[in-house]
Amino acid sequence: MTPNPRTTMLICPLTAHTVEGMIAMREQALARGADAVEFRLDFLDEPPSPQDLAAMLAGGDTPAIVTYRPVREGGKYAGDERPRLALLAHAGEFPNVFVDLEQDVPVRLDVRGGLIRSRHDFNGCPQDLDNLFAVLSAAGDVPKVAFTPAGPDEALRAFDLLRQTPGMALAMGEAGVLSRVVAKKFGAFGTFAALSAGEGSAPGQPTIEEFKTLYRWDSIGPRTAVYGVIGHPIAHSMSPAIHNAAFAAASVDAVYVPLLTPPGAGPFNRFMDALRERPWLDWRGLSVTIPHKENALAYIGAARCDELAVRIGAVNTITISPEGDLRGDNTDYPAAIDALCAAMGIARAGLSGRSVAVLGAGGAARAIVAALRHYGARVAILNRTVRRAELLAEEFGCTAGPLGAAIGGEAEIVINCTSIGMHPNTGECPVTSIPESTKVVFDTIYNPIETQLLARARRAGCATVTGVDMFVNQAVAQFEIWTKGIAPRGVMRNVVVRRLTHTTGH
Ligand code: NAP
Repeated sequence: MTPNPRTTMLICPLTAHTVEGMIAMREQALARGADAVEFRLDFLDEPPSPQDLAAMLAGGDTPAIVTYRPVREGGKYAGDERPRLALLAHAGEFPNVFVDLEQDVPVRLDVRGGLIRSRHDFNGCPQDLDNLFAVLSAAGDVPKVAFTPAGPDEALRAFDLLRQTPGMALAMGEAGVLSRVVAKKFGAFGTFAALSAGEGSAPGQPTIEEFKTLYRWDSIGPRTAVYGVIGHPIAHSMSPAIHNAAFAAASVDAVYVPLLTPPGAGPFNRFMDALRERPWLDWRGLSVTIPHKENALAYIGAARCDELAVRIGAVNTITISPEGDLRGDNTDYPAAIDALCAAMGIARAGLSGRSVAVLGAGGAARAIVAALRHYGARVAILNRTVRRAELLAEEFGCTAGPLGAAIGGEAEIVINCTSIGMHPNTGECPVTSIPESTKVVFDTIYNPIETQLLARARRAGCATVTGVDMFVNQAVAQFEIWTKGIAPRGVMRNVVVRRLTHTTGH
């Protein structure tokens, strides 16, 4: 009989070294909202006695999994099989207890709650994954496979398995986080959630709190739409926090996950192909960040991308229609110039003829210069590597010069697109003085919120625009492209400000 829990359980692995520690940890896990716990007996300093087991399993209405993982399967138990199996058989006599037994054990235990048959691959993805899951299903009540994907494309294979049998299919590591979160959409038996950061039992496991608050676990269902941010690195991206909070505030049935994807067109294209082969994922959009913005444009093709995104050469927003059609946009440039125009109290057309000094010639500068020129501003590009500034200037019809030279006396607007002054180098400033002519200073850096440059500008009486204004604007634009609704801008801004204040200790 396959146990059929009403909804996917959030299972907290208990990894304490003593029986008392295990019991205390269970109480904390339940208090934080776990639906079930997993006793990892192999973490105990001493092999537990039947009395220890009874103490741990006593008084629990909550479902519990008992696991005694041997070293050969990635666990810590290095002793003989016989006492290990005897203890697992004993655990199976308790009500509401599931026992996890590895695939290679040639016995079948009678377990009152249900027998989980498991296989773990910490080095890759088993070739015969589908067949393996079928074998595990036949050998027990709940199949469980955990593997290590090369990228998020391989992590999607977990859902192929869950669609057939609602067991547990988990892709480990940072590239597999989506498999843990989206498992609930496919009615998985359970997913594992660490009690707190660093206390998980496998790489890539979010905490209970992250599942509940960041990933909106309780509202994920079969019809939930899926979004994500694709980039490398991705761990510190604020996009999952900002978009999930926006979906929650606007009551949109959607979840947003990080997608660590190795650099290069190959890994990017493989993920996109894997998504499109699975329309039943209800994947509706992607934010694209470094180093994949150019790959996104190439994959989608210029004909299906916003004109200025093509000119810039970068797509940061992908929309996928229910029919599978792709569309590419760039929300960085409108985010920047709309933040600027709001501070100046003008419409975009009002930028025509204004004099702007852009500091830097990298990706952010390129998007901003293209937009400024599109709306008729006069632009001087100043960069450490002058040749880079000259190339950009030639392409968009600007002037170029070295960073560090005095900014031309007539610049009305100064925009910093270098990383000078960014956390942790918050004492640095890209200019020695701000010209008399300058009325507005915009720093694209968002950490810290007020850079040295902006503090100086404020003291000089200039209007200021922060990188947070730009960052929030690009996320707002993505939300509105995807949902065709009005974004909860205040909520999104608060998420960003709270995160920045928290991470930099302000
Ligand atoms: P990028 O392509 O790597 O370009 C970096 C730029 O900074 C280049 O012009 C580089 O000059 C210059 N630079 C770096 N270190 C320098 C130093 N020590 N001295 C002088 N110049 C230096 O990076 P990006 O993607 O354009 O990002 C640039 C900035 O924009 C970052 O601070 C980022 O946080 C910000 N940004 C903000 C948002 C937002 O939403 N608010 C979005 C994107 C980017 P060289 O050409 O000489 O190397």
